[in-house]
Amino acid sequence: MHIDTKVARFDAAPGDPYRPTSTPIYQTATFGQASASEFGEYDYSRSGNPTRTVLEAKLADLEGGQSGFALASGMAALSVLLRSVLAPSAGPDTRAGWLLVGADLYGGTTRLIEKLVAPLGVEVRSVDTTDLVATSAALTELRSRPGPGLVLLETPSNPLLRVTDLGAIARLVKEAGALLAVDNTALSPYFQRPLEHGADIVVHSGTKHLGGHGDVTAGVLVTSNKVVAGGIAFLQNAEGIALGPFESWLLLRGIKTLGVRVAQEARNAQEVALFLAQKIGSKNVFYPGLESHPGHFLQKSQASGFGQLISFRAGDATSAKTICEATRLFTIAVSFGSTNSTISMPCRMSHASVPGAAIAAGRVAALPEDLVRLSIGLENPRDLIRDLEAAMNDLPVVVGEFGSHELRAVRPNT
Ligand code: PLP
Repeated sequence: MHIDTKVARFDAAPGDPYRPTSTPIYQTATFGQASASEFGEYDYSRSGNPTRTVLEAKLADLEGGQSGFALASGMAALSVLLRSVLAPSAGPDTRAGWLLVGADLYGGTTRLIEKLVAPLGVEVRSVDTTDLVATSAALTELRSRPGPGLVLLETPSNPLLRVTDLGAIARLVKEAGALLAVDNTALSPYFQRPLEHGADIVVHSGTKHLGGHGDVTAGVLVTSNKVVAGGIAFLQNAEGIALGPFESWLLLRGIKTLGVRVAQEARNAQEVALFLAQKIGSKNVFYPGLESHPGHFLQKSQASGFGQLISFRAGDATSAKTICEATRLFTIAVSFGSTNSTISMPCRMSHASVPGAAIAAGRVAALPEDLVRLSIGLENPRDLIRDLEAAMNDLPVVVGEFGSHELRAVRPNT
């Protein structure tokens, strides 16, 4: 079935005698039992709730996996994933394992890994996953380590929009006997489905495209690996971090329009990116939809769209701030993937939580201070371009060729 059909049409309430076309919100904490020794399908909403079940089945369906999980936030999803795979508290192998991460990740993910996952005894390394030779070398070294291994990456990455070859990385990870987790937040399953390319687990901040209206905080995990699914299900219940019934319903409602939203936002983003490339030079604009982008053809081969995130370099931090504050149609805000356009300075906002020590040690990419990130929404792109043009024309300095798509070299952890 085409993804357009999958997002728009599904069984909203399996088994419900009234056959509602929108999933009912089962706003209840408990479910009555037939007797003290008999349990029905549901007994307590922390463990399972019918509204969440419909959502979790839909999420698995969209990503092409067997099991879907809805959690309280993207960070909750990442935390559950990393701890259940790398520091399991139950099961045959409870040794802490190793984690190889892409060098350009959401700032909160880096904070989680540095402050909460590494202290569990997990060996953490980072690598530029767009470089297959470097990734292969890192895996060759890590595969001999005891305990389970996991590779976690974003493609395109947030905020530098670097594109990793999913199929090639999946093969390398498999050879190393490890698992591959892909944070697919930037594109959503509408444009990219990493499990189809060999990934083992998909992660989302559902707060972005899946919710789509900036009104819900949610996280998602999808996998076909039964052992991984078991570990996630255990923590989801044991720690009580599942998504509530109302938030599950909001996500279900958002998903119904996922296709039209992200397709239009991507069309708008393409126009805005072309304008920026003309204005400040394509080297300074990070958008995989531009043919000049080093990941353009790779992304075209593994995804059906380029998304709506654009980053660009403004020349210096003051100019970046001036542009952010001079726009009228872009709200200065963290997060992305909502119907309205937003603008941000990753260094000071979404990625400000990256521990300085991780940057100093070369474990994560040092972001340029003049980087501006746009999340393009559903406004008319001509209006967005006029707004940006006016904001940039106010600049005291002329923006020139500052940038390059190269990351600062990432050194292995010591
Ligand atoms: N992954 C990516 C790529 C993100 O951009 C974010 C948040 O911005 C997260 C995960 C965390 O998600 P949440 O804010 O829903 O906890």
